[in-house]
Amino acid sequence: MTPLAAGGTQHEPDGLLVVDAAGRLSYVGPAAGRPADIEKAIDLQPWVVMPGMVDLHAHLPQLPNAGVGFALDLLAWLERLTFPTERSWSDVAVAERLAPGIFEAFAAAGTTTVLAYGVVYEAALDASFRAAEAHGIRAILGKVMMDRGTYDPIIEPSTILDRSLRESADLIGRWHGADAGRLGYAVTPRFAISCSAEMLRESASLARASGTWWQTHVSEDPFEIAEVRRLFPDARDYVDVYDRAGGLGERTVLAHAIHLSDRELARLVETGTRVAHCPASNLFIGAGVMPLARWLAAGLSVGLGSDVSGGPEASLFSVMRVGAYAQMAHRSLVGEMGAILDPLGWLRLGTQEGARALGLGDVIGSLEVGKEADFIAVDPGFVAAAPGALPDDDPADLMSRLIFRAHPDMVRAAWVRGRRLAGPGRR
Ligand SMILES: [Zn+2]
Repeated sequence: MTPLAAGGTQHEPDGLLVVDAAGRLSYVGPAAGRPADIEKAIDLQPWVVMPGMVDLHAHLPQLPNAGVGFALDLLAWLERLTFPTERSWSDVAVAERLAPGIFEAFAAAGTTTVLAYGVVYEAALDASFRAAEAHGIRAILGKVMMDRGTYDPIIEPSTILDRSLRESADLIGRWHGADAGRLGYAVTPRFAISCSAEMLRESASLARASGTWWQTHVSEDPFEIAEVRRLFPDARDYVDVYDRAGGLGERTVLAHAIHLSDRELARLVETGTRVAHCPASNLFIGAGVMPLARWLAAGLSVGLGSDVSGGPEASLFSVMRVGAYAQMAHRSLVGEMGAILDPLGWLRLGTQEGARALGLGDVIGSLEVGKEADFIAVDPGFVAAAPGALPDDDPADLMSRLIFRAHPDMVRAAWVRGRRLAGPGRR
């Protein structure tokens, strides 16, 4: 079952994928049309094979905190939970111990591509990249940049900017494009409150010069927005802070983007800036509800993010469920009418649209000939209405159950470029 890049969904009740020696899909279709020259066949029935999920927003070191901190407001949540956890990665041994299991947890949730923040420490990022390299997941990571209110008490404030830029550039040199593009780098200023205008500007120009991604947070929480207004009195609004830094564009992924003005929305659309929609995080922390239908109708490029541990689960299936409920609540409370995304629309957002947001829409995100073989196998028995109930042969009904009855163990296996990942099916 897969969305198609050109639109629509393909569902083969008795389907076959063929992966070539380079890890690309060379056949996708009914098993009856099986090519003659298959070297080795694996029977995955009764599992359902789907494209791997593309998580556009997560924080690696925060995974151990997932599920705690409900309803702490954003700034309190950072101070009390998040910063102490991230500071513990100043000891590279902590990063080396935790990172492998974190990538396994993403794979177990069905995620085969993750765009994630690390911490402010360069050595911890090297350890994270090494873990991703060994695990096999597709990962775009970045060292967090902060020159205001940083949680590292050791770094001399006057040297933070130069040091952070130099360390980011070093990491780019070592990791961006590694393993034929499976690993990538995103220059990662945390958000406007943590960064001077100069850091935002210099980080954006580093990303442009190096051909890497640029990621940060925008317009998540009303208190945060008020603080940004106080810190950047010359900017027209929150989006303008990043616009002035040269940070908007097609290689930029902004997390949240909930409380945008019409002007901000139009500017993000005009510049082709990508947005990571993180509804589970937004309701867990209490930041707000994105008017998704309106953002999509305006032409904004939107994919999904778990935002662990702002979000309590790495699973994008769970994120879809919360997002779907949030849209219904928004419609009934605000009275705003708009197209409610159907289950196959959510699948597209979590796969093909996420890939497109990264500029990888021709490489991953769907199961189509010529794309790299990033896919998962899900056991529909975990979401059946009752033991022995008939399996769904309608893809919309099947996807509906995978979203609304998502089970933490339902993803049984995951592959990137046809190579199986550790994590799924372990329990
Ligand atoms: Zn975040």
